[in-house]
Amino acid sequence: MSPCRSFRTPNPVNLAFFSVITLLAVIGLPWYWMTVGVSSAEWALFWWFVIATGMSITIGYHRLFAHRAFKASRIITFLSLFFGAAAFEQSALMWASQHRDHHRFVDTPLDPYSIKQGFWHAHMGWMLFWRQETDYSNVRDLAADPLVAHQHRYYLPWAITAGVLLPLALGALAGHWLGALILVVAARLTFVHHSTFCINSVCHTFGRATYDIDATARDHWLVALLTFGEGYHNFHHRFASDYRNGVRWYQWDPSKWLIMLLSWVGLAKQLYRVSPQAILAARMAAEQLRVERALAQRTDTEIGEFLQAVRERYAKVKSALNDWERWEKESRKLRAAVRERSQDAAETFRLAARERRLAFERARRQWTNLINRSPLIPRTVHVSAAALIVLPGVCGILR
Ligand SMILES: [Zn+2]
Ligand SMILES: [Zn+2]
Repeated sequence: MSPCRSFRTPNPVNLAFFSVITLLAVIGLPWYWMTVGVSSAEWALFWWFVIATGMSITIGYHRLFAHRAFKASRIITFLSLFFGAAAFEQSALMWASQHRDHHRFVDTPLDPYSIKQGFWHAHMGWMLFWRQETDYSNVRDLAADPLVAHQHRYYLPWAITAGVLLPLALGALAGHWLGALILVVAARLTFVHHSTFCINSVCHTFGRATYDIDATARDHWLVALLTFGEGYHNFHHRFASDYRNGVRWYQWDPSKWLIMLLSWVGLAKQLYRVSPQAILAARMAAEQLRVERALAQRTDTEIGEFLQAVRERYAKVKSALNDWERWEKESRKLRAAVRERSQDAAETFRLAARERRLAFERARRQWTNLINRSPLIPRTVHVSAAALIVLPGVCGILR
């Protein structure tokens, strides 16, 4: 499959579109607010459209279409396409094709919004001063869906109906069509656009590389707050098919929570989750690499011996983790097979897997203590010492 090709040439349609909505938002909104005033009905409509269109991009365009991280019912597919079109970020097919290229060719000239071409280019310069020739061969699976194909073919009618006519009609019903135009169309689009664009610019520049220290993608909580959970971009680039971006219980990822909620009521299924052990392995590999690179900077005589000790402990943690993962899988299978005959036998397998987990936690603590208590290691390179507590339900640390 051939990637999307880009050519440097101004895009007059996009330049005009972004100029009009930006001017309407930054000049029109303060003027309207001061002269007419913004009613609570207009604010409610604004926030409702921010949430509906923003989450149609994160849950629909991104996790459902671009990454196929779960399967959705037809009504969810339709709503994602309808309110996704209202976000004016192109058709789902084009968005997904360019996004798959972003993951596949990240940071190369074939990445449509490569951060290597600069912060502004990744943010929105790629749409204003570049023309993309999208090759749809990487989204054949999506094009086979008649709804997705229809939204792509008739994108403008979809976008104008959902993103302009609907807010105007609702605004007119509340007696504020001008307020709806300024607030719910222009200001809402400006807000949703720039928060989405921050993922390609801010999240490829600032934040923490938790799972892959050489990736430009970073985890940034503030962007997660603005984008319904998409800011954990280092995790996302490492595990792109996972339906979660904020994988820990305290990370703000309402898109993940809504997908879970949809699955509980039967509107989504086959939510793809990377195993907790694979996530831990990536996180520890990143931490170990960071430690090794920090040590490589130093010339102290005892470095060689210390590095050897760290490597040995890390090898033990990895082996304990592999053992736990193997037992976890085995015990799940065996438990299912024997449960009908004997609850006691099933419990034995569960306890055996738990033993492996505790052995891993012990090995991890020894590795963590060796690194974090050494004067040779700067605080910024300390490895995560948080206890591995697996809580049930939505609070599970690695749910
Ligand atoms: Zn990215
Ligand atoms: Zn992605």
